[in-house]
Amino acid sequence: MAHIVAEPCINCKYTDCVAVCPVDCFHEGVNFLVIDPETCIDCGLCPPECPTSAIFPEEDLPDKWHEYIEINAKYACDWPVIDSQKEPMPGADEAAKEDDKKEQLDPDPFPG
Ligand code: SF4
Ligand code: SF4
Repeated sequence: MAHIVAEPCINCKYTDCVAVCPVDCFHEGVNFLVIDPETCIDCGLCPPECPTSAIFPEEDLPDKWHEYIEINAKYACDWPVIDSQKEPMPGADEAAKEDDKKEQLDPDPFPG
């Protein structure tokens, strides 16, 4: 089991989650973050830090976001590690209130 980043994170990147992770298991895409399930130690520190409530223990992930288990595992292999907090994306506050934004998920890695 691991923690999973789900849809509310798309287009936000507040990255408060990254600041508290003790094992650097967040990976960064253009407009989304994922958690490497092989690295996450289920410490539980990141969910309370996320302003959009996007992070769940796998067993508590809402059914409607089940596909994010695979999305986290897949992109953790393709995207670079992010190990320090950064500025949120422009428009993050508006994006945080949006529903049904899966189609906006950019599959590309954050350009390093
Ligand atoms: S704090 Fe939440 S919304 Fe922000 S990058 Fe982390 S998971 Fe995504
Ligand atoms: S649960 Fe802990 S180890 Fe897993 S991503 Fe969150 S802060 Fe990192």
